[in-house]
Amino acid sequence: MNFSSFGFDQRIAAAIAAAGYETPTPIQEKTIPATLAGKDVLGLAQTGTGKTAAFALPIFQRLLGGERCAIRALVISPTRELAEQTHQAFEMLGKDTGFRSMSMYGGVTVKSQVKTLKARMPEIVVACPGRLLDLMGQGFVDLRSVETLVLDEADQMFDMGFMPSIKKIIAALPRAHQTLLFSATLPQEIRALAKQYQRDPVRVEIGNSKPVETVSHYVSSMGQNDKYEALRSVLVEDWGSTGSGGQTLVFTRTKHRAKRLAQQLANSGFAATSLQGNLSQGQREKAMANFRSGRAAIMVATDIAARGIDISKISRVINFDIPDTPEAYTHRIGRTGRMERKGVALTFVTPEDSSVLRQIERFIGAPIERMSLPAVGE
Ligand code: AMP
Repeated sequence: MNFSSFGFDQRIAAAIAAAGYETPTPIQEKTIPATLAGKDVLGLAQTGTGKTAAFALPIFQRLLGGERCAIRALVISPTRELAEQTHQAFEMLGKDTGFRSMSMYGGVTVKSQVKTLKARMPEIVVACPGRLLDLMGQGFVDLRSVETLVLDEADQMFDMGFMPSIKKIIAALPRAHQTLLFSATLPQEIRALAKQYQRDPVRVEIGNSKPVETVSHYVSSMGQNDKYEALRSVLVEDWGSTGSGGQTLVFTRTKHRAKRLAQQLANSGFAATSLQGNLSQGQREKAMANFRSGRAAIMVATDIAARGIDISKISRVINFDIPDTPEAYTHRIGRTGRMERKGVALTFVTPEDSSVLRQIERFIGAPIERMSLPAVGE
């Protein structure tokens, strides 16, 4: 199958070619026809599957020929980084259509956002729920022309406590609108959300929400106090590296631990940065830019901050602290092995982690290979 079978307008087809996309990914193949036909879609797919283009491309096609300078497509994202990334994808894929996108999230002044809103008059808004509600409350955003709503990473939004805000936002939309709901996992709450807000959705499931198959999984047992040395040995020995100069994403349980670990690594001479919720918006952007460009080879992050990040060069994910749930494991591991590239996932486990580890293995459907790490300096 190729993109021409969707019958996209020439302006969209040109952007697809310019982006270097040759064949549609499975989620694109299965959801684009339904979205073009105006149906609701429930897409179970992680990031890294091409889901952003899966909704952005048919949204542009549906916008063509219609009104301009009114918000006609609204994407709700759990994090600022994902909102920004999605906005950039819309900009790239829609550059020949003349439609404009804008991102809205906290950490940037309301004033500057209102200024951008008035200057750009976007047809597409990609927003985090809190800031969008603020701007709606102050009368700056009018959602009465929205035709398509995208709820992206819905399970994460639920985990972050955004459901009440999302329901308020939906209440401000016209009754007849298309809803595209994407989620990596399908807990009961997301099932209920789909039931309440979608009409007979086309359900598409990619990869059974299991961690991508191009990733090799390992666990290594150790005491809490041995973790730093173990991490150092992995980095020094370049263990698990694919040899293509890939980057390493390290997850910790708390913001404080992420900050401290990144500092410790930087003090030991590693090019490390951190991404966690205590940073200002400017600092978050700088950390992301450093990691994206490869200036920082290592990023230490918390779950929430790293959610949905698309950096294809991440070859290793290291769980310095094991995640709390199998779903969180899936999300973390989804940061590597993207678009069929190979990746390695290594989880440090202490004796207290054994029950979560068992749950993760049950979820993946296979035991994870145990490995012992080479000791540094031996
Ligand atoms: P996403 O899952 O939306 O985060 O996308 C992951 C990455 O895949 C992004 O860098 C996209 O630009 C890229 N991508 C999306 N669709 C395709 C495609 N059909 N062929 C190749 N790359 C793609």
